This record gives sequence, structure tokens and C-alpha cells, in this order.
Amino acid sequence: MILTQRLRLQLRFKMLVSCIVAVSENGVIGKNGTLPWRLSSDLKRFKEITTGHHIILGRKNYEDIGRPLPNRINLVLSRKENLKIEGCEVFSSLEHAINFAKESGETECFIIGGAEIYKAAMPYCSRLYLTKVKAEIDGDVFMPSLGEGWTLERETSFPADEKNQYSTVFQIFERSLENG
Ligand code: NDP
Repeated sequence: MILTQRLRLQLRFKMLVSCIVAVSENGVIGKNGTLPWRLSSDLKRFKEITTGHHIILGRKNYEDIGRPLPNRINLVLSRKENLKIEGCEVFSSLEHAINFAKESGETECFIIGGAEIYKAAMPYCSRLYLTKVKAEIDGDVFMPSLGEGWTLERETSFPADEKNQYSTVFQIFERSLENG
């Protein structure tokens, strides 16, 4: 079969868009602009999974983190005109941020929240790294719908301990998207 140049380019630059998030039993992901729990093993896993990759985050999430996450290419989304953040690339459109990662030769870029960014990006995501926090949590930011078609690929449970406030279940889901 003869591949067109465009198809060859698409195959060469195929990039996975993945979502990574921790969610309580009642759907909470945040409170007062920050994370509503202390889960050090989850943060460690987040670092391992995302290191070396492009990460896409909302301006509010960036402000909570307070600095570019090291050893990752930080793509911050904001509608503020001319916003510049040292050590980050700022985009006013999710699609431009995803294309930037793709054109840089990225193989897997990560949507790391918060809720507004998850909502906008979910239609592009075909892998989901989900930490289920086994508690009902008081919060003010909730995870939007994950959409349909997900298949559970892996699941591991972790107990609560002195460094992890709640027990958690870490799951990896995948799905194929119609247009790629
Ligand atoms: P976000 O972090 O999603 O940031 C929202 C901001 O991003 C908007 O105000 C706007 O910035 C910009 N923005 C949003 N959509 C777009 C778009 N389509 N194009 C361009 N810019 C866009 O804020 P949330 O309040 O939803 O989430 C923050 C909360 O989520 C915090 O509590 C945080 O701790 C939590 N969180 C939890 C995670 C978890 O795994 N549990 C992970 C990540 C965050 P501007 O106003 O500058 O225009």
C-alpha cells in the first residue's frame, strides 16, 4: 500500500494524549485552589509518570503549584493576553498546546488539570491514569465527566499510612478515539 506523505507524517508523529488525576469518591479534585489531601505516594507516581514529557495545565493549577514542574515541558493554558511565565510556554488554546507537544516529537503528553482543563481536553484523551481516593472529601472543584469507551487495563490498591492520608486505588484506562 502506498502511503500518502500526509499519512506518513501522521503515523510518524502519533502522540498519545493522557489524562492524570486523583478523584475522591464524591468526585472532588480540589479545595480552595489546592489539593484537598496529602498523598505522597500519589505525588511520587505522578512525578515518575510525567517526567520527561510535555504537561498541559490550567493557569489556576499552575498558580497552586507555584513553579514550573522540573524535567517536564510545562504548557500553561490562559486566556489572558500576553501572559508570560518564566520556564513555561503559555497558550490561549488547548489545540495549540497539543500541537506544540506533537510537533516537538512528544510521544505522550499529559493533561494534568484542573477541572476546566480536564473538561476541555477529555475528548482528546485516550489514556487515563486515575487515582481513586477512598473517601468522601469536602471540596469545591469536581472532576468533569470522563466520557465513554474506557477499558480498565491495570489496577493497584494502596493502604493509607503516615504519608498517605487515605487509601487509594490506582487505575489505568485506555480507549480508542474515532478520529485517531
Ligand atoms: P484550572 O487549573 O483548570 O485553570 C483554569 C484557568 O485555565 C482559567 O481560569 C483560564 O485561565 C485557563 N483556561 C481554562 N480553559 C482554557 C482554555 N480552553 N483555553 C485557554 N485557557 C483556559 O482551574 P480549576 O479551578 O478548574 O482547577 C483548579 C483546582 O483543581 C485546584 O483546586 C487544584 O488543586 C485542583 N487540581 C486537582 C488535581 C487532582 O488530580 N486532584 C489535579 C490538578 C488540579 P485565565 O483565567 O488565566 O484565563
